[in-house]
Amino acid sequence: MDESRRRDPDDDPFRPPEVPIEVQCLHCGRDYDSYLIEWREEVDADGKAMGFWCCPTPGCDGKGFGFDILPTDPEYRDEHGGWVDFEGDEEGNGEGNGEMGLEFEP
Ligand SMILES: [Zn+2]
Repeated sequence: MDESRRRDPDDDPFRPPEVPIEVQCLHCGRDYDSYLIEWREEVDADGKAMGFWCCPTPGCDGKGFGFDILPTDPEYRDEHGGWVDFEGDEEGNGEGNGEMGLEFEP
């Protein structure tokens, strides 16, 4: 119905890298290869389709490469030479406060 608002998996800021790497999900703690991260579309309360790159583990709600799903290699940089750096400090690294007001401009 609402094709114009459909999110494009390849245009999502949290898409996995083109070259698969080993990643770990902060929610379930599993390690796996980034190509296993799944694109899922959901419909929110307004009937708007929302797509997310999601952890492939059944029942896990980890979403987004670089957000809930992180490279296991702390030195990882993507092909652009940079990567979203959410962990400037080691101590604030626990899970539970995943909602931190992302402000990505498309
Ligand atoms: Zn997970």
